[in-house]
Parts: sequence; C-alpha cells; structure tokens
Amino acid sequence: MTNAVCRETCSGESGLLSDLQAAVNTIPVDGGKFLIREALVTGSKALHAARPFEGGEILSAIGMREQVQSPNYLSVQFGEFEHGMLHPVHLQYINHSCSPNVFFDVKAMHLRALRTIGQDEELSFFYPSTEWNMNQPFHCHCHSPSCLGHIQGAAYLPESILIQYELSEHIKDLMQRARTAARCSAVA
Ligand SMILES: [Zn+2]
Repeated sequence: MTNAVCRETCSGESGLLSDLQAAVNTIPVDGGKFLIREALVTGSKALHAARPFEGGEILSAIGMREQVQSPNYLSVQFGEFEHGMLHPVHLQYINHSCSPNVFFDVKAMHLRALRTIGQDEELSFFYPSTEWNMNQPFHCHCHSPSCLGHIQGAAYLPESILIQYELSEHIKDLMQRARTAARCSAVA
C-alpha cells in the first residue's frame, strides 16, 4: 500500500516537473504574424511563425537598431566590420539551425523564407550565413540529420559545407580571401 502511494506520488511529481519544463509563455508580435515562445523554466526565447509562409516570401524588413563594437550572442553581422542589434527586436529570438528555414539578407535588408514554413513552426537561421567569427561558440542541438555540431562562425567551416547554404556577401568575400591566403601560404 505504502509503495503504491509512493509510486503514485512520484509519478505525479515527475508529471508536474515535465509540465513545468514544457510550460511556455506566448507573446504575439508584429501584428500577430509571429509568436515569441518563452520557456518559463529556462527563460529561453524562440520566434515562431503564427501563420504559414511560402518559400521565397519576405517575412519582415530588417534594420540595425544599434551598432555594437564586437559581436555578442544576440547581434548579427551586417558587413565585414559591422555588427549590430536587430530591428525589429523580436527578430533577435530567431535561433540557429543547421537546417534553417529563414535567411537574413543583410544587403536587401529583409528576412526571407528559404522554404515553406508551417504555422507554429520555429524560425531558424544558419548563424555562419552572417557570422564569420563568433565570440560565443556553442554546441548545436538542432537535431537536423546534417547537424554540424560545434558552431563558431563561417571561418571555421570548410568551403564544401558553406556552399550548401545561402550566404551573405561579406561571408562570401571573406571565404574567397581565406581561400586565396591558404593558396598563397601553400605556395610559399
Ligand atoms: Zn545543428
């Protein structure tokens, strides 16, 4: 009897714990186009599509609300020497994935769908598509079959991987320069 009660209580507690861990606060933004989902336990935020988007569709105009001297975990690299905080602010909650569904076009200054995005799907971009050398590398858990694991910027990825992704102009320029420098040092 005691054991039965204990089992019941324990399973009840673990149920409560998983409920708590799964609990999110949902905040609609941009006229209800997107949803910020904030995990109540960890405080981590992610931006989701509140409606479906077609591949190639422009989801939002983007801007730089403030330039920063060096990259941080929320900034985006807009050019070789340009790092800034995104406008609108909610776009900074778009996390990394090795199989991204959106691209920050920092030349055209908009956010574009790379493929069809379903309602409620989390938006994600490939950090090395804008970031050459990140100051806060991390281990990716995107669960994509092509997950690259450690993410620290385009500078650390082989060109054979990078060319599989849509990349910003400054990343393509830096990649080209790195290739030339490698060739020159090989000759020397
Ligand atoms: Zn990944």
